[in-house]
Amino acid sequence: IKASDLVDEAFTRINEVDDKVKAFLTLNEDQAKAEARKLDEQALTSDALLAGMPIGLKDNLVTKGLKTTCASRILENYDPIYDATVVEKVRAEQAITIGKLNMDEFAMGSSTENSAYAKTRNPWDTDRVPGGSSGGSAAAVAAGEVLFALGTDTGGSIRQPSAFCGVVGMKPTYGRVSRFGVVAFASSLDQVGPITRTVEDNAYLLEAISGLDAHDSTSANVAVPNYAKALTGEIKGLRVAIPKEYLGEGIDAAVKDQIKAAIRQLEALGAECEEVSLPHSQYAVPAYYIIASSEASANLARFDGVRYGVRADTNDLIEMYKKSRSEGFGDEVKRRIMLGTFALSSGYYDAYYKKAQQARTLIKQDFEKVLENHDIIVGPTTPTPAFKVGELIDDPLTMYANDLLTIPVNLAGVPAISVPCGLADGMPVGLQMIGRPFGEETLYRAAYAYEQ
Ligand code: GLN
Repeated sequence: IKASDLVDEAFTRINEVDDKVKAFLTLNEDQAKAEARKLDEQALTSDALLAGMPIGLKDNLVTKGLKTTCASRILENYDPIYDATVVEKVRAEQAITIGKLNMDEFAMGSSTENSAYAKTRNPWDTDRVPGGSSGGSAAAVAAGEVLFALGTDTGGSIRQPSAFCGVVGMKPTYGRVSRFGVVAFASSLDQVGPITRTVEDNAYLLEAISGLDAHDSTSANVAVPNYAKALTGEIKGLRVAIPKEYLGEGIDAAVKDQIKAAIRQLEALGAECEEVSLPHSQYAVPAYYIIASSEASANLARFDGVRYGVRADTNDLIEMYKKSRSEGFGDEVKRRIMLGTFALSSGYYDAYYKKAQQARTLIKQDFEKVLENHDIIVGPTTPTPAFKVGELIDDPLTMYANDLLTIPVNLAGVPAISVPCGLADGMPVGLQMIGRPFGEETLYRAAYAYEQ
């Protein structure tokens, strides 16, 4: 195969469907085609993990010379002068960047409706959302525009859209992948990860982006396995925990049916399934919204009209800050900044932020306890299949509740994968598998055995 053919095919497909799907914000067509030609001339290196593969990148991963907006007005003209480490890494493995993918503004949302530029549609049913915040990434893969995409996951933003679009998405262990060049939302939770059609492709892409990075002090000095080697199809004796909270109230009946069928299938493959409890699950959503918003309020202070992006046209300094931020940020981003600033203000810190951190510790301990005696935890990725465009946009609390089953994983820092698991209501359901810290191999092994 020639890289040029793969890249041409990606753009042909994008021209066919992206008017409807609206997954891409920026295309890198000339550059991608030139790179493909160059690769073809030098002949693809056979041991490159992603030789000649077209890839789409979420628009919060900075790309040198390629506009990076975070789907925000405030970065509408931001042209980074460097590549994120994950971008350098996929490039080193000879992947070719096709373009930048739509998302909720600054990764805040669950439907990609918070983008300042476009509403991405679910390729399975264009009246429905693709999920979010990596909705462009999941939709592009589901629509066959690219086979590889990168997303980020702070509270579910890789897994939830992957579930809604019927593709495979992995949120790695916190620290597995460098965050250098990832526009920060909530630094203690953010992680980059792969979105692909198959578990095998996912394993290759995670291998490509993982590893210690001198530019990110939170990246872990843990050897990067050859994840594809774990794909044996063999899971006999795998100890699987099923949290009762994940199949309880508030979970759609048709979703539950699919998950139960998946559990029976894992049992048929020789896994030993046992019901367990994660008793502090109910505190995850409120704790997350305090912690994530607090971190966001600090991280987004850098967008002041001076250092990055759009500057309002006025000579008064304070007026300029105010105007740049008022005009540059959308409603959801403002809501989070206000919530976070409030939670961190003196007099409220102990009541909100500190309490949320205490809840986070209890949630983390729930996972540690269960994972002492079990290899993985299994449940749904989301309580429902994809909802309709516009259905929840005026109801932030119900929108937040969509991440009920994904958020605890980020708070605990453990890895989790979402794999397609049948249909409910004609729409894809996601099976979530949660692992031990740096237990991505076991997740891939189980996901692959299930997928076969
Ligand atoms: N939907 C969640 C939020 O709005 C998670 C987003 C994410 O993981 N980036 O914060």
